[in-house]
Amino acid sequence: MSDKQKTILNDVKLTGTGLHTGKDVIITFRPAKEDTGYVFRRVDLPGKPEIQAVAENVVETSRSTVLYQNNASVATVEHVMSAIYGLGIDNLIIEIDGPETPILDGSSKYYVDSLLKAGITEQNTDRKYFEIKKTVIFENKETGTLIKAVPFDGIEYEVVIDYHSTVLGRQKAVLKSFDDYAKEIAPCKTFVFLKELEILLKNNQIKGGDLSNALVIVEKEFTQKEFDRIADLFNKKHQKYNGRGVLNEEYMTFENEPARHKLLDLIGDTALSGMRLKAKIIAEKPGHFANTEFVKLLRKEITK
Ligand SMILES: [Zn+2]
Repeated sequence: MSDKQKTILNDVKLTGTGLHTGKDVIITFRPAKEDTGYVFRRVDLPGKPEIQAVAENVVETSRSTVLYQNNASVATVEHVMSAIYGLGIDNLIIEIDGPETPILDGSSKYYVDSLLKAGITEQNTDRKYFEIKKTVIFENKETGTLIKAVPFDGIEYEVVIDYHSTVLGRQKAVLKSFDDYAKEIAPCKTFVFLKELEILLKNNQIKGGDLSNALVIVEKEFTQKEFDRIADLFNKKHQKYNGRGVLNEEYMTFENEPARHKLLDLIGDTALSGMRLKAKIIAEKPGHFANTEFVKLLRKEITK
């Protein structure tokens, strides 16, 4: 089977705010020639340094995936990379005038909409596939994380999450074809546990966040007074506390949306393999550290 590499037809711009930095940024997607792969370009810095989106350039994974090359970094690349890879784009320049991609609505929906608006076009060169011949495994026994790529003629993703949360339970999400990506995965928002959110807010670690760009999971029982205090932290009006559950349920599209979002992230991180893969990728309790370590293992196989 052989098919052609793809890029976009026209430049397209998108603006928004970084989640951790609170900085407003403009992203401009530009067509790129065959075999370019994915390149971020920091247009706000002298010399407009470029950062190749590959696993070896990952320097930080604690809250999001951060890339660094040529004395420049770009943070929270996973949602934009997921949209690009999920839509089957192989070559793209991603210009950005700041240190972090915009969080938008916490999903990759707006990236997908922009890229589709730009138009996706076939190029002259055949795509290169990396076919998994022998299972590649990343495992962390302490956290119970296991990510593996097993031989498969095609590409499929399967994700299971389990935070011992009484609200979320154990959730599974599956993607059997990238044809379903835009509809089934792209709109799935990131999520955060309220207990984590309070800590992050106090430490001033989320500046661009509000209640519309993450599902907020409320696990413990609060008093109305405690709940009002949380609303104050967000500069939101006080509302009636309805018990444990998803605080902003009106933003939720799918029942297993948290698992689907982890699948979205996993696709974004596997994009850093720099290749189209032929594999079934199965992840139990994935996260950016595990995902990118797993992709580094894949890169080692690819460059062998
Ligand atoms: Zn995410």
